[in-house]
Amino acid sequence: MTLPTLLLRPGEADRVLAGHPWIYKGSALRLTAPAADGALVQVKDHRQRLLGVGFYNSRSKIAVRLLAPERVEVNEAFFEERLRAALAHRQRHLPHATSFRVVNAEGDFLSGLVVDKYENALVIQTSALGMDQRKGMILAALQRLLAPTLVAERNELASRKFEGLPDANGLLAGSGDGAVAARLNGLQFATNVLTGQKTGLYLDQQTNYARVAAFVPLLPGAQVLDCFSYLGGFALHAAHAGAAHVHGVDQSAEAVAAAGANAAANGLAERCSFEAANVFDWLKAHTAAPAHEKVLPRFDLIILDPPSFTRTRASVPDALRGYKEIHLRALKLLKAGGILATFCCSHHVDAATFQDVILAAAFDARRVLRRIATFSQSPDHPILPSVPETEYLKGYAFEWAR
Ligand code: SAH
Repeated sequence: MTLPTLLLRPGEADRVLAGHPWIYKGSALRLTAPAADGALVQVKDHRQRLLGVGFYNSRSKIAVRLLAPERVEVNEAFFEERLRAALAHRQRHLPHATSFRVVNAEGDFLSGLVVDKYENALVIQTSALGMDQRKGMILAALQRLLAPTLVAERNELASRKFEGLPDANGLLAGSGDGAVAARLNGLQFATNVLTGQKTGLYLDQQTNYARVAAFVPLLPGAQVLDCFSYLGGFALHAAHAGAAHVHGVDQSAEAVAAAGANAAANGLAERCSFEAANVFDWLKAHTAAPAHEKVLPRFDLIILDPPSFTRTRASVPDALRGYKEIHLRALKLLKAGGILATFCCSHHVDAATFQDVILAAAFDARRVLRRIATFSQSPDHPILPSVPETEYLKGYAFEWAR
């Protein structure tokens, strides 16, 4: 059976050949035969050279999401093979992890599909129509490979609207209320795959939890502040590594309660406290000093892991002001020789811009910083440099050197 062909305009083929799987509507010249939304089509350049096959959607700005550079049949066996390759990557780079992202969309050559694993439970997200239509096949392949006891879908994604898809949230297999307990680096995190943030946890920080916790033994008697603590990811790792005390701050009262329960479940309750507050307000209140008095630095390790302050390029300047403010105040609370570990998950703020903001804050706080680490997303969120959208999480650790 020959597939309908989408022909590209001249000059549009190179980024596809370099590995980018998105064919924008504006790059298309024409379809040679009618194609249903969600159907498999082939894409050729204006010289009729085959560039690959992928899912078509007339309603999306992304007309085709390529799946393979050659003609393939997209069936259960196809998904099984892609899943096996994704699992092999995790096995190689996160060999001890039992909870991790199994598939991260473009980074695993499956644009529009995310699969997270929390021990024996799986959560899937389908952000593209063609993928959503094949949820049954994907589920069957996942069941064969991983034999999950529970599979949930968390499809309340803004991007689904652009594909003409409604929200959906619920169990696809198994039963229960969605409560799961995931193990990360030997610590237990209870969360809920139906109601938690993202799909339950911020799995992209898994390797960074361990790396940041490794600073704790360098800071004897460490007092730690975890800002935007959610379920206590950084906080519990720091306490487990021997911190004298860790204080977590998050605006979600539910997250704060859950973080406290997680601390208790890991036997770390005595050295952890969590507080529901807006971090901006909290930092302001704790850096307010009477005139002519200095703010007393109190923390040996401060972690800043805010949500993305910007979803669009247009609001980047506002976001940068927000990043600068929290860094300025955090630096005032950091003891000499202390360590600041800070993250930015906005795709629109690149690593260099992020560092510039931190340096501007350090300048205002009259601190000279020494950079001791750079961070990225965990390897279960693979980065393809030819697909810039796959890279979003960056971070640094700085010491107050002078
Ligand atoms: N560090 C966490 C992830 C943080 S995600 C982890 O590793 O799991 C961002 C968190 O910031 C969310 O839990 C959200 O509830 C919280 N948040 C968002 N805006 C906030 C604000 N202004 N003040 C405090 N918390 C905020």
